Amino acid sequence: MQRLFLGLLLISTSLMAKTGPDFDQYFVNKTMRVDYYFTGIKGETTISLDQIKEEPVWAGSMTNLIDTLNYGNHKVEIFDINTNTLIFSKGFSSLFQEWQTTDEAAAGIYRTISASVLIPFPKKPIKFVHYSRNSNGAFEAEFETEIDPDSRFIRRDKPQFNYKVKSYINNGSPSEKVDILLLPEGYTKKELRKFRDDVKHFMTVLFEAPPFNEYKDRFNVRYLEVPSEESGIDNPRTGVFVKSAFELSYNSFDSDRYVLAFDNKRIRDIAANAPYDQLYFIVNSDKYGGGGIYNLYSTCYSHDAKEENAWWPDYVFVHEFGHAFGGLADEYYTSQVAYNEFYPLDVEPWEPNVTPNTDPETIKWKSFIDADTPVPTPWEKQLFDNIPYKNQDERYQLLRKQEYWGKVGAYEGSGYVSEGQYRPYLDCKMFSKSLVNFCPVCQNSIVRVIKFYTEE
Ligand SMILES: [Zn+2]
Repeated sequence: MQRLFLGLLLISTSLMAKTGPDFDQYFVNKTMRVDYYFTGIKGETTISLDQIKEEPVWAGSMTNLIDTLNYGNHKVEIFDINTNTLIFSKGFSSLFQEWQTTDEAAAGIYRTISASVLIPFPKKPIKFVHYSRNSNGAFEAEFETEIDPDSRFIRRDKPQFNYKVKSYINNGSPSEKVDILLLPEGYTKKELRKFRDDVKHFMTVLFEAPPFNEYKDRFNVRYLEVPSEESGIDNPRTGVFVKSAFELSYNSFDSDRYVLAFDNKRIRDIAANAPYDQLYFIVNSDKYGGGGIYNLYSTCYSHDAKEENAWWPDYVFVHEFGHAFGGLADEYYTSQVAYNEFYPLDVEPWEPNVTPNTDPETIKWKSFIDADTPVPTPWEKQLFDNIPYKNQDERYQLLRKQEYWGKVGAYEGSGYVSEGQYRPYLDCKMFSKSLVNFCPVCQNSIVRVIKFYTEE
């Protein structure tokens, strides 16, 4: 009797857990890559379809097909045309959206930037709908198209570049794990040995950082040995241009240390050799720099020119992954980042760790705040701001002397601005250039994303 009861209970909980669309009903285990172009200026976007490709293996979850995180400046939704059922969605950010916040875009100079969306390969015709956030932060449909998976217009050739996939950490099936694909940029054939050492180094760094240390078994890590013809990457401010494999460059969006890649299709064609949820470029350079865009890719320089700064790349590596994987915002505000109104004060940002809202009843990380912590939370900001940026240690010490050190609250100064935006914690890997851990709110976001990829 008891055994029967338990059996029934097991059946009913497993039925309850499964609420989303059934993968096998709508999809096959392959990837459909939809390439399109963003064109426009600030406040104006046109999206045009480029091409659709079939790629091997679906790396994303087969259980969580509907994105519940609500992160990113864009999202796509896929509908089964016959039944008008939502069968897949995913949030992401883009180079184009970030470019739209620059002076160039505000001056009305049009640009076109390529982007790709990876979806599981549908069995039947679908409606593909692309959304961007409007000025109020809400998603608005911007582009839609119907795709017949049997169409002869879908390119089905094998990956154009044939690089062997090397597995560094293997914990199981791509659809049940977070799959990181590491790509070498600016390493010549002779330097690929150094790249392998860098893979080892950065994966040790990443998986020592909480919360990744506790979830290492939910990750697969692979890399491709793609040689560059010449060593290093472009540095336009010093007139250095290099023949590197992926054409990454410093000074992206005219920000000296910002390293990005714009040749999206080449990147995707090479990456297609391996299943991936996250792309990470390790850049063979000793000049400080990196970048990370949510669900697009991360970049990080490999080593620092100065011995005493040997730990800087370790900080950059995990920080950028916080952006690209965890959907985290920068919590710092001292840096000279060339953005205009990146976070308008009257809109709640989608990122989980920055807010202009100081209402203790509605602040989005309310559940992390103790009842006796005031919101906004007082701290010696003026004193902190008066310490020169280069005196890192002094800044570090002052933060740790604050009354609410170790408490989640709402500390003014975040998202590049000194006033009106708040961060959840005095110090965090998204706030200071140091080897400090992610704050509790940022860690929680990362864990949510890990679970989305790996849990039923
Ligand atoms: Zn944080």
